[in-house]
Amino acid sequence: MFDEFGPEKIIEVYNPKLGMKGVVVIDNTALGPGKGGIRFTPTVDKGEVFKLARTMTWKNALAELPFGGAKAGIIGNPKQMSHDEKDAWVKAFAEGLKCVCPGQYIAAPDISMAEHEMEIFVNTIGDKKACTGKPEHMGGLPHELGSTGFGVFHAAKVAIEHLGLDIKQVTFGVEGFGNVGLFVSKFMTEAKAKLVAVSDSKGTLYNKDGIDFKKLEKVKKETGKVTSYGEGKVFPCKDIIYQDVDVLVTAAIPDLIKKEDVPKIKAKLIVAGSNIPTTPEVEAALAKRGILVVPDFVANAGGVISSYVEHINGTKEQMFKLIEEKITKNTKLVLEKAEQEGIIPREAGLKIAKQRVLAKCKTCK
Ligand code: NAD
Repeated sequence: MFDEFGPEKIIEVYNPKLGMKGVVVIDNTALGPGKGGIRFTPTVDKGEVFKLARTMTWKNALAELPFGGAKAGIIGNPKQMSHDEKDAWVKAFAEGLKCVCPGQYIAAPDISMAEHEMEIFVNTIGDKKACTGKPEHMGGLPHELGSTGFGVFHAAKVAIEHLGLDIKQVTFGVEGFGNVGLFVSKFMTEAKAKLVAVSDSKGTLYNKDGIDFKKLEKVKKETGKVTSYGEGKVFPCKDIIYQDVDVLVTAAIPDLIKKEDVPKIKAKLIVAGSNIPTTPEVEAALAKRGILVVPDFVANAGGVISSYVEHINGTKEQMFKLIEEKITKNTKLVLEKAEQEGIIPREAGLKIAKQRVLAKCKTCK
């Protein structure tokens, strides 16, 4: 489970009185303290946390942030706990991390963790630098600003230009209409791209004449379903990937696009806003069909860039500026390298990230 990059440390935290168990994997700190969220699920284990920590090593290196890669998991079902019990588990987990936090590990929210839990985390460690994703009164930059969606939009913009297309002429579809999907739709439509397909967990909506973003946002808020929009055709959720669009943005589930889907995809460009929407093999098969894929660790780094700005006590204006600069620069770099070397963008991004880590890593070979 380890190689020349890491993990450097795996810390298991137990609290027998509460029955709490958790794990932190600090993968690589060559570029700075390991940065990554804490997820609280019944099934999280060391292997899952390690894979996610490694992804953070590459994502942070590619975004040129002074952070290494890490991730954490608390093993339990928060849905079956009272608020007090959940809070006690988070506190106990933080107690166990005082030895590494924030010097070697900086936390953030992930599944079933939010501002409230980050406040407990900071108060337990006794240092505001212990995590990001804090409430606004502690200097946090709220999720509702749409930092990840803003970054995904800029990755899409660069890739559209790379393909020689005009953003004002392209049609696009978005899988998922939550935090990431909603903001990508907003920023893309503001740039005059035409939203023609959108999905959520209830189904897919397609309208070749265009979907009005503001009306869609209202419909989703009032009914909980994008398919209640009223104009256009409705399909099962999975069908979002087969719709007639120039650009497909993924913003919901992992393992969305399978090998057998490749011949049926009409998009010229897929921008991975969600994590692991497909495999490297499928990305290579898509490339053979001439479909460009901007991988997740390139496109969705807006969230961690926002975390960095929070970490240095920056403002939301600084956050948006830095996301635009970094995502634009790094997406261009990755797409150009991929083209020059005849490799897929994922491979090009990994090569750049690895070089940046190796240049600073004293423990790597
Ligand atoms: P979210 O919970 O706000 O929204 C998820 C959306 O996906 C919801 O609209 C839900 O209805 C929809 N959905 C669920 N199942 C679906 C299905 N089968 N088909 C279509 N839609 C479905 O989540 P989010 O924060 O927007 O995150 C979305 C993805 O982006 C996840 O993969 C997440 O890991 C990744 N991501 C998020 C951030 C962030 O800052 N929010 C950062 C990096 C990566």
